[in-house]
Amino acid sequence: MKYAILGDIHSNWEALTTVLEDAASAEVDSFVSVGDIVGYNANPRKCLAKLREMDCPIVKGNHDHYCSIETPLNGFNPLAASVIHWTRNQLAEKDRQFLADLPYKRRVDKFTTVHSTLDMPDRWGYVFDKFEADANFSYQRSQICFFGHTHVPLLFERDENGNVSQGRYELIDVKPGKKYFINIGSVGQPRDGDSRAAYAIYDTDAKTIELRRLKYDRETTQGKIIDAGLPEELAYRLARGH
Ligand code: ZN
Repeated sequence: MKYAILGDIHSNWEALTTVLEDAASAEVDSFVSVGDIVGYNANPRKCLAKLREMDCPIVKGNHDHYCSIETPLNGFNPLAASVIHWTRNQLAEKDRQFLADLPYKRRVDKFTTVHSTLDMPDRWGYVFDKFEADANFSYQRSQICFFGHTHVPLLFERDENGNVSQGRYELIDVKPGKKYFINIGSVGQPRDGDSRAAYAIYDTDAKTIELRRLKYDRETTQGKIIDAGLPEELAYRLARGH
């Protein structure tokens, strides 16, 4: 079975369709989303409609959450907050309800998915280092858990003795006795200095997890951001991948 794990699509239609085409050519059987379908870019309705049509398991991201309810946006940076206001107005009531009803974590097959961390999935903590990953591992019952939120692809690995290591990855060979907490990067707004869309393919027979990076029609995405009157910085950052 081959799963495509998609994270932080963030209303980026061009990146999403490019990733779906690549997944089709890689003969993926199933799709899974680790949340943040909306926010930042200019096609929230289209991206959400596509994900709903795909009928795949999805967990709730912080943008999905804040776009689905009318609540003050304390703690958000001004850029993110202005897009959340804009996105709320773009979405129909049924879209907002769909996002509001998403679970924070989800078991799929033999693995787990969460947007931020399993220890406090509704607190939206960021995992950038192995100390932050440690708390997650104490709640991780499955061998593999996929997450997003930071938009930075990273692998955290815990061995039989409880030692956690971290690093970048391109291809992971899943080994018995180890636990994996894997950030699969962002489809719609990469932040690791590489502007290409990111997602991962988990092959449960080969026991491999491959990170895939793809160029997409970024200029069109940037043009839509400007045309929608969203902050121009959101277009520039797509080029920086940051
Ligand atoms: Zn995000």
